[in-house]
Amino acid sequence: MNRLVIKVGSAVLTDKNKIAKERMLNLVTLIVKLRARYDVLLVTSGAVAAGYSALQLDKNKQIGKKAIASAGQPILMASYKKKFDIYNINTAQILLTEDDFDSRKRTKMFQDIIDAHLNNNILPIINENDITSTPEQLFGDNDQLSASVAHAVKADLLVILSDIDGYYDKNPQEHNDAKIYKVLHELPKGSLKDAATPNDPFATGGIVTKLKAADFMLKNGRKMFLTNGFDLTAAEQFLLHDTHTLGTLFI
Ligand code: ADP
Repeated sequence: MNRLVIKVGSAVLTDKNKIAKERMLNLVTLIVKLRARYDVLLVTSGAVAAGYSALQLDKNKQIGKKAIASAGQPILMASYKKKFDIYNINTAQILLTEDDFDSRKRTKMFQDIIDAHLNNNILPIINENDITSTPEQLFGDNDQLSASVAHAVKADLLVILSDIDGYYDKNPQEHNDAKIYKVLHELPKGSLKDAATPNDPFATGGIVTKLKAADFMLKNGRKMFLTNGFDLTAAEQFLLHDTHTLGTLFI
């Protein structure tokens, strides 16, 4: 079966410092449908927002953020587990850092673990392990982590679910006349150097980290689809009905 990595960001998964449970349930329902056609892996943000409800430290300070994330990770996983339990789907938690991709031995280890999960119908749920890692070891956002994971597990496609319909020729929050790119074979010149513009207090990436992920996928001969995670219609159309309505396909 083809492998699919789905990455969902904080903008979609959280709402006012809390997990957006209805949106999470919609995502879980989509993943259940996708599993009939693909081997699915999920890369998820949301630990900091989930932890913030239990521990209100300063998330802009390194220790505060790590403490919140470590309190939030089990809350996030519990929330997923509750929803996947409805469909009798078992999940596994995999926490990775950039170092896991640097050493062949370490990469092989998590590749084998993920293979074991997929072969046994378990859904791997991946997040960055930012608890013990130093700033140099961190991806800092799950966009690039998800691209590295997709490459390591030889996924055909990475789907990034964000708060936006796709990639536009200019920031659509600031320009009414911004036009969406439907298919891109390479990134527009200079696009990787634009300033980071996350649209959410818990988001770390903005559009640039998504473009870096797309660039990595394209350079490795893989595909990426950036689409809306609030309304999953376009994702479902594309992934289950082979119809490309909204969303940017990097191919
Ligand atoms: P997530 O939490 O899903 O990772 P982010 O808030 O980090 O999402 O990134 C998506 C945001 O990037 C969009 O909501 C939009 O405000 C901003 N953005 C800036 N420039 C563009 C562009 N050219 N096309 C699409 N989005 C853009």
